[in-house]
Amino acid sequence: MSHDYDPEWNYVLDRRPPPAVKKLVDQAKREHGPIWKALGFTKKPKFAYVRDLSEGHLARYVGGTESEPVFVLDARAIARAAQDNRVDLQTAVWSTLLHEYGHAYVESVGLHDDLNPDDEEEIVEKFAHTAWEDDWRVTYALSELNERLGIPLDQVVG
Ligand SMILES: [Zn+2]
Repeated sequence: MSHDYDPEWNYVLDRRPPPAVKKLVDQAKREHGPIWKALGFTKKPKFAYVRDLSEGHLARYVGGTESEPVFVLDARAIARAAQDNRVDLQTAVWSTLLHEYGHAYVESVGLHDDLNPDDEEEIVEKFAHTAWEDDWRVTYALSELNERLGIPLDQVVG
């Protein structure tokens, strides 16, 4: 099962994202395999840089692409947010990615439609925070996420 979703259908691509952000996303692509696996992504996610995310979004998971998750990133907005919040760029980029992985996961376990958007935001943000802040404790963060989503442990694969 796959899809042929192209971010250009909905977004304006950013052909020249800030190199420092791109470098960290490229690093994530090399190092995030274990977390993608833990989250049950069966195919490598795709990432696209875009310029026009609305409402102050830094990134989005493109709903419905769970078979091969697609994430769109506003690299300039991420760089600005890092500066505004005085966090280092890697924290900004990776915690943004983790947050979006959380959205993809929530959809893949079929709970996106059951959660109200604010609750989903809070749950995935918490996941991103735990996974990143606490020494990359992805397994622990995932177990917390499942608990918040009410998914019994014995149903969890990976
Ligand atoms: Zn979100």
